Amino acid sequence: MKAVFLEGVGKAAVKEVPTPSLGVGDILVEMKACGLCGSDLEKIQGEYTAAPPIIGHEAVGAVSAVGEDVEGLEAGDRVFPHHHVPCYDCDYCRSGSETMCPDYRGHHLDPGGFSEFFRVPSWIVSHGGVLSLPTSMTFDEGAFIEPLACCIRALDRLQVDEGSEVLVAGGGPMGLLLVQLLPHYGARRVIVSEVSPYRLEFAGRLGAEVVMNPLEVEVPNEVYRLTGGRGVDIALLATGSSRALHQSVQSVRAGGRVGLVGIPEVGAVLEGIDALVTREVSLISSNAATERETRRAMQMIEEGSVQVEPMVTHHVPLSEFSRAVGVAREAESMKVIITP
Ligand SMILES: [Zn+2]
Ligand SMILES: [Zn+2]
Repeated sequence: MKAVFLEGVGKAAVKEVPTPSLGVGDILVEMKACGLCGSDLEKIQGEYTAAPPIIGHEAVGAVSAVGEDVEGLEAGDRVFPHHHVPCYDCDYCRSGSETMCPDYRGHHLDPGGFSEFFRVPSWIVSHGGVLSLPTSMTFDEGAFIEPLACCIRALDRLQVDEGSEVLVAGGGPMGLLLVQLLPHYGARRVIVSEVSPYRLEFAGRLGAEVVMNPLEVEVPNEVYRLTGGRGVDIALLATGSSRALHQSVQSVRAGGRVGLVGIPEVGAVLEGIDALVTREVSLISSNAATERETRRAMQMIEEGSVQVEPMVTHHVPLSEFSRAVGVAREAESMKVIITP
């Protein structure tokens, strides 16, 4: 079978490898769609080293074989398998930091989601990490379960108050999922800042009331002008850009909150920390997601509360993976989906 492997910085190569064999409790899934995520691009570039060097975690497919002792799943089932699952039993899990559980990143899709077939290890299967897709859900829609779940976790951690005005910095796929989620959390108005005119147009279409380009305006000034000199209640970083982080901190009102969703560059520095305290601005980060959020994400997609298919701009077959990486890095793309 064909699968994509990381081969040092800047290189992801398609290789022909044996189909994984199954141990007790494992399942084998035939990949039907796998979203290419910003974090995959960062791993390929060597910029995101905190997680294992395995790429492809937004995968959905059909079960093709089940190992010994697997119950409740059979060949042909359409599924979304979690890439990582926590133990739900340690101090981290019990205090709400499930994605920091020492077991969370210890198990993953093998060899990864960008593969014709992949093994889902028994740990993930036995910890409820394989969700059955509703019959009405397309594989493209299913590929958004994981990224949407990450956005849901970020907003849960932030606690969005009814009537909030929110700035979303970054109008890529994560930014646009946040734009669509925010009204469900009671946000009254969503402003998007994004350097790509192509992506700004998407943001306007998918629910942002105001869009602005940081290359054309001073974002904090513009935000203050739009909010009567007050600033937004919440700013969400859906980009790794340090400049956008700085602008977001400046754009929130005194007492406001900044949510970190995108992964900053390694070693990124935030200047002006004194202003966080004097203005009582909180930074609240969020990392990945658990089954609690993926189940809600799946339900929201199924109900049509979030429109994901309009965000798919490209389908690229696995064999042309490097072309997909090029497309995703260009400004004129939104979600790139890898197909078998
Ligand atoms: Zn992702
Ligand atoms: Zn745990």
